[in-house]
Amino acid sequence: MRKGNTVRDAVADWVATGNLKDCSLQEMGDRLGVSRQRIAQVLGLLGHHKPTVERLRLAASPKEHRPTIAETFGEHVDYTGDCWLWMGSTYPNGYGRFRFRGKMQYTHRWAYEAEYGSIPEDKPFVCHSCDVNYPVGDITYRRCVRPEHLFAGTPADNVHDAQRKGRRPSGRARGGG
Ligand SMILES: [Zn+2]
Repeated sequence: MRKGNTVRDAVADWVATGNLKDCSLQEMGDRLGVSRQRIAQVLGLLGHHKPTVERLRLAASPKEHRPTIAETFGEHVDYTGDCWLWMGSTYPNGYGRFRFRGKMQYTHRWAYEAEYGSIPEDKPFVCHSCDVNYPVGDITYRRCVRPEHLFAGTPADNVHDAQRKGRRPSGRARGGG
């Protein structure tokens, strides 16, 4: 089982060399030792263009016509900068959110899990190593969803992170920090 950036790097290579079109999500997953859902997540995180993702998804699951969670997520992310900014709706606490098949998701927590797997129980907060603000100067919003800029932290990490950035900690593991 490959973890972390390795899967994404491998998929990125695949996309770059054009070999992707000959390969279903299932085949890619089998070769890398991960599920086809994981491949679809990675493609969403790469901001890979929708038609290819859609075609691959249909190839992997012909009867499924609803968009995948990665597609729903990727449609609202600006991948052009160093930070990948969530441009969709946010919770009142400033964290991005998106609804997928009736269930609300925190964008930064979803991005973390898509890249690294489950959030550790002893480090239940997903914190940002970057300090990007969007709109610029507004510290309320925590829109970056780039996995390299996210880390799992303890409650103490979360408080420290919030103080460093001049905000109050969320105080809830669910919100992350
Ligand atoms: Zn960032």
